[in-house]
Amino acid sequence: MPVLDPAQAQFDIHVPAVVVGGGACGLTAALTLADAGLGVLVLERDANPSGSTALSAGLVPAAGSRLQREKDIADTPAIFAADIAAKAHHENDAEVVRAVAEVSGPTIDWLMDTHGLDLHLVEGFRYPGHSQLRMHGPHSQTGADLQQMLLVAAERAGVDVLTSASVEDVYADADGRVRGVRFVRPDGSSETVGCDVLILACNGFGANAEMVRQYIPEMADAAYCGHESNTGDAVRWGEALGAGLADLGAYQGHGSVPFPHRSPLTWAVITLGGFQVNTEGKRFANEMSGYSEHAQEVLKQPGGIAWDIYDARCEAPALAFHDYREMQAVGAIKQADTLEALATVTNLPLAALRETLAQATACAAGEATDPLGRDFTTSPALKPPYRAARITGALFHTQGGLTVDTDARVLRQDGSPMPNLFAGGGAARGLCGPAAWGYLSGNGLLSAVMLGRLGGAGSEPATGRVRTRPAPSAMARCRRPTRRP
Ligand SMILES: Cc1cc2nc3c(=O)[nH]c(=O)nc-3n(C[C@H](O)[C@H](O)[C@H](O)COP(=O)(O)OP(=O)(O)OC[C@H]3O[C@@H](n4cnc5c(N)ncnc54)[C@H](O)[C@@H]3O)c2cc1C
Repeated sequence: MPVLDPAQAQFDIHVPAVVVGGGACGLTAALTLADAGLGVLVLERDANPSGSTALSAGLVPAAGSRLQREKDIADTPAIFAADIAAKAHHENDAEVVRAVAEVSGPTIDWLMDTHGLDLHLVEGFRYPGHSQLRMHGPHSQTGADLQQMLLVAAERAGVDVLTSASVEDVYADADGRVRGVRFVRPDGSSETVGCDVLILACNGFGANAEMVRQYIPEMADAAYCGHESNTGDAVRWGEALGAGLADLGAYQGHGSVPFPHRSPLTWAVITLGGFQVNTEGKRFANEMSGYSEHAQEVLKQPGGIAWDIYDARCEAPALAFHDYREMQAVGAIKQADTLEALATVTNLPLAALRETLAQATACAAGEATDPLGRDFTTSPALKPPYRAARITGALFHTQGGLTVDTDARVLRQDGSPMPNLFAGGGAARGLCGPAAWGYLSGNGLLSAVMLGRLGGAGSEPATGRVRTRPAPSAMARCRRPTRRP
């Protein structure tokens, strides 16, 4: 994973822009460059580009989108930025947060109107910390569909996506100017490509157990539910190039992961009045603080296990998630018409469960105060028929990475911009500050899509090329780029 001297390289081909990683960040950056008529090559380690993007719920928060305007939702980038900053206790980069919030609505419109992504606005519940309805995603609410739509758009726009191409080395001058990369094929052969700009969109280090233990020790033994190819390459290249790194202890956890299914059970069932109990039938933390930091609370319980307890009303929005319906189909969601039956199907102690439910019901009626600090009055009390799911806490992705400016340009340790290196998504410093508690739902794809957009636009002048051609209407995906004679 070293940074090599360009004098050692005879580049096989040269392209204006190389993007490492074909997830939401890389494809959004590539689409932006393709719109400008600039040649871009996406190098993707996997045979089929999927990334954590395909594992996600595919929900991207954005303010000021056309879909919001059509529903008369009075959201603005300023309100959105304030929500992101508040969740992170203002310990994130305010300028980057502002830039990302400002570009968010127009980027969703651009993805839909220019690149044909079929997105909708999620209605019916708000994730904790979001003061407006602003989650945009595929109708299925699966990241797999978001990823597929981005790939189709990239294909239509003529983006070259080279798969089974694992970037191993970066060639850079002593001042950090990147000249190209070397990538390795599954048969062990390697090739080089020179470039004017390099965009790192290869996510974080969630799949690198050693780095997780080093930077996020509290999650070292937790299940990792993200993509296995995200091995921290951007951080290691950044270190070698003298780039600034920040918030390496930050991550998105999830405190509601039915195991071994590995995909999250939407937190909507909790925000609408559901709660969590441990195997003793007792609540243990204020669930409304956020699902990310709740991962650790769950992991502290006996066996690292808890139960989501909710009812049919809370379940209604969850049914819109393809993953939820799959969990139903495999029996991960228990149903019970009475409290006694709920205790039986969950094997939870009936007396404790009854006491916990009575306490939550009294809090919802305003007759008691929750000792854990949750305001239950925002939703009706649970009533039969009940639902329950056995869950654990898990690591979804890391949020620390390369420090970037509002153009997604990578910064040196002294804060000055590197000449032609850009980063976004999980490769860059995230938006949640130094820890899991700063993660506002949607920050992951927000950083991926919006820093991809900003990085694509920001890197355009750094290629030194002029816009030469309109994006072709349709070109084959996963083509081998043409070699220069
Ligand atoms: C289960 C789950 C649910 C989630 N739900 C949501 C959600 O609803 N909303 C939200 O905002 N966020 C969510 N997230 C987080 C979100 O998925 C990520 O933050 C986002 O997908 C990151 O996008 P990315 O483009 O940076 O990385 P990825 O989508 O992971 O793409 C990175 C790509 O880089 C490739 N790569 C890595 N190293 C190399 C290399 N050296 N050479 C070539 N290629 C390389 C990888 O193979 C991968 O395809 C969820 C995450 C998980 C795991």
